[in-house]
Amino acid sequence: LQRLRQGLARSSAQLGAQIASLFTKRKLDDDTLQELEDLLIQADLGVETAMRISDTLAAERYGKDVSGTDVARIMASEIGKVLQPVARPLELDLNHKPHVILVVGVNGTGKTTTIGKLAAKLSRSGLKVMLAAGDTFRAAAIEQLHIWADRTGSDIVSTKLGADAAGLAYDAFEKARAKGSDVLIIDTAGRLQNKTELMAELEKIVRVLGKLDPDAPHTVLQTLDATTGQNALNQVEIFRNIAGVSGLVMTKLDGTARGGILVSIAARHKLPVYFIGVGEGIDDLEPFDAQDFAEAIAG
Ligand code: GDP
Repeated sequence: LQRLRQGLARSSAQLGAQIASLFTKRKLDDDTLQELEDLLIQADLGVETAMRISDTLAAERYGKDVSGTDVARIMASEIGKVLQPVARPLELDLNHKPHVILVVGVNGTGKTTTIGKLAAKLSRSGLKVMLAAGDTFRAAAIEQLHIWADRTGSDIVSTKLGADAAGLAYDAFEKARAKGSDVLIIDTAGRLQNKTELMAELEKIVRVLGKLDPDAPHTVLQTLDATTGQNALNQVEIFRNIAGVSGLVMTKLDGTARGGILVSIAARHKLPVYFIGVGEGIDDLEPFDAQDFAEAIAG
């Protein structure tokens, strides 16, 4: 929580200062409301939420003085309302043995790191975890996943660079069954440069997993990098269509993130946010708390 607050502190302080300066020596009128909405939209909160905040403020204080605290309180409350429904933890159905989690997302958004952190959490809770190095295009991704497997005491299935990812996924599923793993987490390549290939590859992975269990993958988790701003919205659109994303993890909220984009994504896509990433370390994966997050953005 502290990491999240620190991460968002600079941008929320900046936004807070801009809002406060809007209302020095000015009453709340149509002009100041419009300027407020513009600021909120620039902070990636999305038009709908920006309007809801300004409407609520107008209902309370139109024609009167406004303080930064008034706005922060209303922001936290309205943002909290948008985020509450998506703050849903990752639930595993352990009747599936293994429960298969397919991890998708653009390269660099934190797939491999999130898999490592998640494996640590699950192993600690006593589950037997297997990882599959399905990003067969990048040697570094395969190496990193091996390091995480060692660190978390997880089994790992990998193959040589350039091998068929769907074949690896199928193989890993069979091995996980044979070994009695509780959870299988499959990494994938997120090469957005070639959307046709990306689509073909992910579709094939989903198809072959379905041959072993029609419900698999049981979870499709997409990682998003909080520092990419509006781009993240498009990324959800793309991966939702290709891979049927069931929930999100927003990473790098400890950095120079603004966080507002998560509000836009929640309003538009209504997908569960399973966790947030607040650092590169093994423990830096936290459950998503809507109210804490709303307050961190509102400052
Ligand atoms: P992938 O290409 O999607 O597998 O992404 P990686 O897991 O390799 O992550 C890309 C970079 O982001 C690495 O340097 C990670 O250490 C870093 N990273 C991942 N998650 C976080 C996070 O929550 N916070 C910070 N600060 N860095 C992160």
